[in-house]
Amino acid sequence: MKTINLLNYAHDNWVGASGGLAEVHSAVTGDVVALTGSDGLDFKAMLDHARNVGSPALRKMTFHERAWMLKDLANAIMARKEELYELNYATGATRTDGWIDIEGGAGTLFSFSSKGRRELPNQRILIDGQMEPLSKTGSFVGQHVWTSLQGVAVHINAFNFPVWGMLEKLGPTLLAGVPAIVKPASASGYLAEHAVRIMIEANVLPAGALQLIMGGVGDLLDHLTLQDVVSFTGSAQTAMKLQSHPVIARESVRFIAERDSLNASILGPDAGPGTPEFDLFIKEVAREMTVKAGQKCTAIRRAMAPAAHLDAVQEALSARLAKAVIGDPRQEGVTMGALASQAQLKSVREAVATLAKSARIVSGDPETSPVSGNGAFMSPILLRSDDPWGSAAIHDVEAFGPVSTIMPYRDLDDAIALANRGMGSLALSLFTFDQKVAEEFVLGAGAFHGRMVILDRTSARESTGHGSPLPVLVHGGPGRAGGGEEMGGVRGVTHYMQRTALQGSPTVLSSIVKQWLPGAPKPEGEIHPFRKRISELEVGYTFATESRTVSLEDIEIFAHFTGDTFYAHMDEEAAKANPIFDGRVAHGYLILSFAAGLFVDPAPGPVLANTGLENLRFQTPLYPGDSMRVTLTVKSKSVRNEEMGEVRWAVYVYNQKDEVVASYDLLTMNVP
Ligand code: NDP
Repeated sequence: MKTINLLNYAHDNWVGASGGLAEVHSAVTGDVVALTGSDGLDFKAMLDHARNVGSPALRKMTFHERAWMLKDLANAIMARKEELYELNYATGATRTDGWIDIEGGAGTLFSFSSKGRRELPNQRILIDGQMEPLSKTGSFVGQHVWTSLQGVAVHINAFNFPVWGMLEKLGPTLLAGVPAIVKPASASGYLAEHAVRIMIEANVLPAGALQLIMGGVGDLLDHLTLQDVVSFTGSAQTAMKLQSHPVIARESVRFIAERDSLNASILGPDAGPGTPEFDLFIKEVAREMTVKAGQKCTAIRRAMAPAAHLDAVQEALSARLAKAVIGDPRQEGVTMGALASQAQLKSVREAVATLAKSARIVSGDPETSPVSGNGAFMSPILLRSDDPWGSAAIHDVEAFGPVSTIMPYRDLDDAIALANRGMGSLALSLFTFDQKVAEEFVLGAGAFHGRMVILDRTSARESTGHGSPLPVLVHGGPGRAGGGEEMGGVRGVTHYMQRTALQGSPTVLSSIVKQWLPGAPKPEGEIHPFRKRISELEVGYTFATESRTVSLEDIEIFAHFTGDTFYAHMDEEAAKANPIFDGRVAHGYLILSFAAGLFVDPAPGPVLANTGLENLRFQTPLYPGDSMRVTLTVKSKSVRNEEMGEVRWAVYVYNQKDEVVASYDLLTMNVP
């Protein structure tokens, strides 16, 4: 591989460092593969560019426009993924490892794009929760909203997943409307640099939305403000150093940290040798130790088993690890590549030496390279501690490589306490086919772990495994794991937004959030709303129906037609004995059906389909002889593509006394 002169991307231009270039070596051969540095960059000017150019451009776009942009970025990565795979080998990673990084990264962008279009409005403001009534007559109400931060997201990334690690942060950041300055780890930065190049060349990002620093960050942190976010992945040491930066403390700069984690995997008390769960456990621990040569933030570092099964676990795991084929990741058949660098190899060896003071190595040799040459290779190292409460190191020292320690537990409480002894982790897995065990474990250990995977014979085949963070689920953990949260679908987007509690009249709040709120005006017009396209529908536009009487005969016909002859509709005495009713009542479903009969405008038109009801509440019983009428109000609308969009209607059903009988959101697909 030719040595690459890595460039920074600042002010929408590729710029080289003015000096101070550092060599980056291939993990496999030790050859210099890249020169990297950021000397000479004007970091304050980069921040200003992001704030003054990138931020306004992104904030002008709606969530949907940003979501489409993410899809374009993901497609660009996928179209040129082979260029990234080629560079990936030099990091020591196999093709499978690279798949997690490269296609997993693009997949994360696709996922955020899809979430953005499905779960966020085609607006620039996001509602948080329900409106809160704050006054007697409803003229003064509260509504929480999210708006985009107006600063910059500084992403400081780890070496292990240079593409995924960047994209899992960029997805939610850009979707939130916030520009980013990315600082990849030096050891594998060439892969991140190329991925940025691909995204910039896709020509879909507004100016200032993305900048790249290929070396130290100079005085960047000195110029951060309350509108900025630092999202860090790496060691606890660096995290603490950055987090205690005086500007970050003074300005309350949001700091999302994802750092060391002594993740645990537990073999349930019921899962002895011979059970499917035992085999699944062995397979998963071995897989987590060897994928990416164990350099995964979520990898299993501590594997716990009932004391009686520890020998069997040791034997089965050692046998499985012996099957790992270690070598040049380009070579066919190789299942485990190299560590990222000689420095990483040295640090893992040091960590193993510390662990070996209170645990013994039962498989693998940390000091002898399994592959000749200058690569950073290491065999998988399995340690065993028979006194897990007597060894602090096995719970405190993270050997960030193919290293794991097995240990016994006495009973479930002991297992829970040992798992929690890691003082906060990103991921925990439990192998059990006993639901009681699973429940107790979650109640006892949930507070210490960001993600818990419970695996058994029914879920394992389709499971995503212990170590895979997913864009739709939260990634992060308490305590030692950094206390941060990333991804988690829309949750991750709000990390780059500010929540504000708005108070005012429903009319003014409604106009701000572009959603009709109870108490806001409900103008009625001549034209039935089902005759209007989305573009012609105004939020608040309301159709009020005629009223109809609901007779006992209606109730009986409905009961026999549908088969719903529940006593409350059919048996006067039994209904009266029910503390809620004064006699036979109309079915809730009858009310819904009659409501549709009242508000529907039947001819073909812009309404394509009814796609669901949400927030349905039956509030007042409807008795035979009562009448009902409906109001149908455009609550919000959102165009999905050129062919269709969604209208959310607020539906209220009233009786003859104007009491609300039922209320719900009706969702329809409409022509834009
Ligand atoms: P570091 O904390 O050294 O580096 C992480 C990132 O921070 C890199 O981009 C690094 O850049 C950058 N960085 C380091 N110092 C500073 C600074 N003063 N100012 C700004 N940025 C800085 O971690 P490593 O990547 O070297 O990994 C070391 C250990 O971290 C691993 O052995 C493992 O224990 C843990 N780790 C945890 C991960 C997780 O996801 N939980 C992932 C990866 C590592 P540069 O590379 O240029 O120094």
